[in-house]
Amino acid sequence: HKGLMAGKKGLIMGVANGHSIAWGIAKALHEHGAEIAFTYQGEALGKRVKPLAESVGSDTVLECDVTDEASIDAVFGALEEKWGKIDFLVHAIAYSDKNQLRGNFTDTTRDNFLMSMDISCYSLIAVSKRAAPLMSDGGSIVTLTYYGAERVIPHYNVMGVAKAALEASVRYLAVELGRKNIRVNAISAGPIKTLAASGIGDFRYILKWNEYNSPLKRNVTIEDVGGSALYLLSDIGAGVSGETHHVDAGYHVVGMKAEDAPDM
Ligand code: NAD
Repeated sequence: HKGLMAGKKGLIMGVANGHSIAWGIAKALHEHGAEIAFTYQGEALGKRVKPLAESVGSDTVLECDVTDEASIDAVFGALEEKWGKIDFLVHAIAYSDKNQLRGNFTDTTRDNFLMSMDISCYSLIAVSKRAAPLMSDGGSIVTLTYYGAERVIPHYNVMGVAKAALEASVRYLAVELGRKNIRVNAISAGPIKTLAASGIGDFRYILKWNEYNSPLKRNVTIEDVGGSALYLLSDIGAGVSGETHHVDAGYHVVGMKAEDAPDM
């Protein structure tokens, strides 16, 4: 295979179904020759993930709940046994009680704050710690974040705080793991209709707003994110680490929407 990922093996965590951002990444990596293992959370999602994995030639589909250290250990133990080493890791996992992804930020409970931080931020640190020893020829790790980390987006609330911590974690991981030639980056994706996004209050309005206000006048797709992840996970992204790379049709650069010029 002559693809950008030929000879590379790695793990994708966070496919729930065919609409998942992680699935967009899986398709791009597969097209370029990667060998991919997947994790899923719980048997209900496993039923959806197994046929998807099979369609990209993967026979390694493992259950993993990132709140459970033993379950993370088991996944990386299985990968070590199967491949001995890996080249890439995709972390596309986040969670908050959806009742707190609407309404007032000050109504965030301590329990949900800690759970959201645990699943959406700490898990990146936990999986990077296990992945690093397997990346004996160097490697590349990508996680998914959102603009709500940088600026206030209505309803995003505690998840914005968790994503800010995630982006900071990417920078700390990039420095530490850079010594082993492991790169760590985040993709800040524009809003995409997925299972996780459906938990965010007024999500359809957020989609409309981005379509109307972004430079490209459209929303992004899981294929757009897949292309950018391919760049970061393959050797053509070899000089990039610690970055939060926006794949949002340019939305993050807009301070105020311009009137469209008459000749456009
Ligand atoms: P999704 O629902 O398809 O994926 C979320 C995944 O997180 C699911 O596979 C789910 O099983 C997994 N997950 C949740 N809790 C878990 C746990 N305890 N253990 C293991 N896995 C767990 O939705 P998505 O939108 O593709 O989300 C993927 C990532 O992209 C998330 O980090 C999300 O915050 C981020 N993101 C999404 C958008 C968007 O608009 N959809 C925009 C920017 C960033």
